[in-house]
Amino acid sequence: MTHTVLLTDYAWPDDGIERSVIEAAGCRLVSGPANPAPAEQIEALVRDHQPAAILTCWAQVSAAAIAAAPDLRIVARLGVGLDNIAVDAATARGIWVTNVPDYCVAEVSDHAVGFALAWTRGLVHFDRQVRGGHWEPASARLRRISELTCGIIGFGRIGRATAAKMAAFGCSIVAHDPYAPDAAAGVRMLPLDELLAISDIVVVHAPLTPDTHHLIGADALSRMRRGSLLINVSRGGVVDTEAVIDALESGQLGGVGLDVLEAEPEIPARLLAHPGAMITPHVAFSSDASLIELRRRAAEEVVRVLSGQPPEQPRNRPAA
Ligand code: NAD
Repeated sequence: MTHTVLLTDYAWPDDGIERSVIEAAGCRLVSGPANPAPAEQIEALVRDHQPAAILTCWAQVSAAAIAAAPDLRIVARLGVGLDNIAVDAATARGIWVTNVPDYCVAEVSDHAVGFALAWTRGLVHFDRQVRGGHWEPASARLRRISELTCGIIGFGRIGRATAAKMAAFGCSIVAHDPYAPDAAAGVRMLPLDELLAISDIVVVHAPLTPDTHHLIGADALSRMRRGSLLINVSRGGVVDTEAVIDALESGQLGGVGLDVLEAEPEIPARLLAHPGAMITPHVAFSSDASLIELRRRAAEEVVRVLSGQPPEQPRNRPAA
């Protein structure tokens, strides 16, 4: 029997890599629109095509979508975070949920370091100034990065990579992670409040969960060093955007580097208007190499499960 695989959405120009892996295994690929459709449309796609596997990038794979395909065996995330998938519903129905946890560790940590360097060296600020007709080197308020403390919230794969890179610039590194199995050489593990109080640069690498929603809100921001930099390359919901804008406007934050926003792609006008805000459109994961690896490995996971093998990167333990 030919299995149908539903690709709900994709954040690249075409579905060629996914299609070649799926079709080489004798399966059929049905692709939804590139931009993620609303949950109800995804549920309708699932009802119409009855897939044995779902590959998803950003689209919501709801409990209703999972219930709509009786022969579904795997929901494979084209990415790391699982916040768009009803994992518990999949687990209860005996369906694997997988991700590709390590395809962009280098890229996301580079992105965080990029924001840090852009801030300490004024790269984004002065580029905007010069294009606006202002050549004013005497206005520079730059920082020596090797004298700064970098606090990393979420000391997992990406957090550890950022720590190693920032340490190479001479920063003192502290980290907060209630679940980290171990520390790393040269990294001091601290409670969140202590990290916030001593860091010049705070980098958010914790996943979005019910516990981490608005982990960085008005209270946390008030505990940071005045004029420090906040970087979020994790998920928008971990940081309270309105509180960040207030902190920028009051000078409590000296800058912010955001690759992710709570209501992306909506950007609050006050954030756009603030000169201290550096914003990228959720691209920290992206590079030529990372995208090829991501797409190939997610599709191979689907083929593995449809051919009766267990996945290499299960994120749940499906009920029997
Ligand atoms: P990971 O699972 O290896 O590490 C996450 C760490 O966060 C874990 O060590 C966990 O213990 C810790 N954590 C959980 N709750 C916490 C809390 N309340 N406070 C502090 N730490 C907490 O994941 P990773 O590969 O390092 O990725 C981290 C996150 O980055 C992902 O969840 C994903 O949402 C995000 N991400 C973003 C992009 C992007 O393009 N912007 C790309 C990939 C991943």
